Amino acid sequence: MHAAPIQHVVIVGGGTAGWMTAALLARALGKAVRIRLIESDEIGIVGVGEATIPQIRHINAFLGIDEDDMLKATQGTFKLGVQLNDFGRLGDSYLHAFSDIGLPLGLIGFHHYWLRQRQHDPSSDLWAYSLNTQAANEHRFARMDKVGDTPLGGIKYAYHFDAGLYGQYLRKRCDPAVVTRTEGKVVAVKLREGDGFIESVQLASGEIVAGDLFIDCSGFRGLLIEGALHTGYESWQHWLPCDRAMAVACARSEPLWPYTRATARTAGWQWRVPLQHRTGNGLVYASKHLSDDEASATLLANLDGEVIGEPRPLRFTTGMRRKAWQRNCVALGLAAGFMEPLESTSIHLIQSGISRLLAMFPDRHCDPLLVDEYNRQTRFEYESIRDFLILHYKATERDDTPFWRQCAGMDIPPGLVRKLALFRGHGQIFREREELFTEVAWLQVMIGQRIEPQAYHPLADVLEQAQLDGFLGDIRTLVGRAAASMPDHARFVAEHCLAGI
Ligand SMILES: Cc1cc2nc3c(=O)[nH]c(=O)nc-3n(C[C@H](O)[C@H](O)[C@H](O)COP(=O)(O)OP(=O)(O)OC[C@H]3O[C@@H](n4cnc5c(N)ncnc54)[C@H](O)[C@@H]3O)c2cc1C
Repeated sequence: MHAAPIQHVVIVGGGTAGWMTAALLARALGKAVRIRLIESDEIGIVGVGEATIPQIRHINAFLGIDEDDMLKATQGTFKLGVQLNDFGRLGDSYLHAFSDIGLPLGLIGFHHYWLRQRQHDPSSDLWAYSLNTQAANEHRFARMDKVGDTPLGGIKYAYHFDAGLYGQYLRKRCDPAVVTRTEGKVVAVKLREGDGFIESVQLASGEIVAGDLFIDCSGFRGLLIEGALHTGYESWQHWLPCDRAMAVACARSEPLWPYTRATARTAGWQWRVPLQHRTGNGLVYASKHLSDDEASATLLANLDGEVIGEPRPLRFTTGMRRKAWQRNCVALGLAAGFMEPLESTSIHLIQSGISRLLAMFPDRHCDPLLVDEYNRQTRFEYESIRDFLILHYKATERDDTPFWRQCAGMDIPPGLVRKLALFRGHGQIFREREELFTEVAWLQVMIGQRIEPQAYHPLADVLEQAQLDGFLGDIRTLVGRAAASMPDHARFVAEHCLAGI
C-alpha cells in the first residue's frame, strides 16, 4: 500500500499536450487526484499539428468520445495514410497507407509472395493489395473493419483536425470537479531543499501553486524539465537536418483527399492537410540550405487555394530530452522532444507518454526504478520513430540539390543500417519489440523509395505458379471491389460529421 499517494497534479501548459494529459489523467484516476492546469493566453500554443495516426482512436474510445461529434467540433476529416511525393526520385509517388497489404500465407509475410511475383511481372504493384490505397486513389472513405466475410483486413484510419479545436474539445470534456484551469503565466519554479523535487510554481499574479507531481506541457521551452531541472537535450539534427517550418493555411480545394500529402522540395518537404474549412500547409526545411524568405516563397507558390493569413515561421531542434521524467516532473509534448511531422507522430507521442505514466503511476517519492523504466521505454520509442523518419531522407536517388546529396550521403544509426541490410539482402523486415511502425509501414517506405531486395523468403517458392496467380488475383479483386463500394470522402464527411451541424 502507498503511504504517500499523489493527490495534487500540476500541469503547466494548455496546448494539445496539456489538455490531452488533463483529460486522460482525470478519466483514469478519477476523483482520487486533483488536477490543476495552468496556461497562458499571452504565450499561446504552437498552433500546428493537424495530422494524426490511427492510435489516436484508442484514446478517443477511452475518453468515451463520439467520433462524429469530435470531427464536427474540430473541422476534421479522415486520413488513410501519407502520400509521399518526389522523395525517392523526382516524379515518384506512393502512399504510406495505414492498412495491411495483402494477406500473410503460411508462416511468411505477404510481401515475399509479391516479390516473387514481381520477378515474372515487373509492373506488379504492391499497392494494388492495399485497401487504404485503393480507396485513397479514388478519394473514397468508409468505416470498414474487414473486407466482407473474407479474412482481409479493412480500412485503418486516423484524422486530420484543427489541433487547437481538439484541445478545446478535450477541455470541455474534463470534469471541473477534478480539473481546474488557471489562466496565468508561470514566472518562477521552487525546488525542494534536499532532493531537488519541484515544490511549487509561482504565477505572475503572485499565486503559489504547490503539487506532488508536475507535468511539463509548456512546449519547446520546457519550462520545468529544462528551465528548472536542467535535464539536457539530445539533438538529432545530424540525421534529420530540417530545423525550421513555415506554416500557412489556404482555402479548401477539391477533392477532399482522405490522406496527408507530403512533397519533397529542394531543401525539405511540404505538407498539405485537408480539413473541412481549409487546407493546412507548411514547408519543413533546413535553414542551412534555404532562407526563410525562400521558404516562404516556395510555400506560397505551391498552394491549392487562396492563401489565408501570413506564413508563420517555426524553429525547432530535432531530438529528445535526455530524461522525459526527472524527479517529480514528467515532460510531455514538445517539452519532451520533437521530431518533424513527416509521419505525424507528435500527438501520438503525447498519448503514449501519458499511457506509460499511468502504467507506472508513482507515489510522491517517484521511485527511481519507475522513473528509469519510463525513460528507457520513452527513449526506445523515440529512437525507433527517429530511424523510420531518417529512412525517408536516406533512401533517395535524388542528387539535384545539396540538401538531397547530404541526405543520401549521411551516416545513419546502426539499427537502421541493420534494417536496410536485412531488407536489401533477404527482403526481411522485423518489427522490434513494441516499436510504433509495423513491418508493413517499413515495407511501403522502402519499396516506395526504391530499396530493392535481392531475395525473398524461400518458403514463398512452395506455391505452384498457378496457385500464386490465383491467390494474388483474388486479393486484388476483393480489394478493388471493396474500395469501389465506398462513398466519396467528401460525401461521407458531409453525411456524418459536417462541422456546424
Ligand atoms: C511545424 C510543426 C508541424 C506539426 N505537425 C504535427 C502533425 O501534423 N501531427 C502531430 O501529431 N503533431 C504535429 N506537430 C506537433 C504538435 O504541434 C505538438 O506536438 C502539439 O501541438 C503539442 O504541443 P504542446 O502542447 O506540447 O505545446 P504548445 O502548443 O506550445 O503549448 C504550450 C503551452 O504551454 C503554455 N505555457 C508556456 N509557457 C508558459 C508559462 N510560462 N506559464 C504558463 N503557461 C505557459 C502555453 O500557453 C501553451 O498553453 C507539429 C509541430 C510543428 C512545430
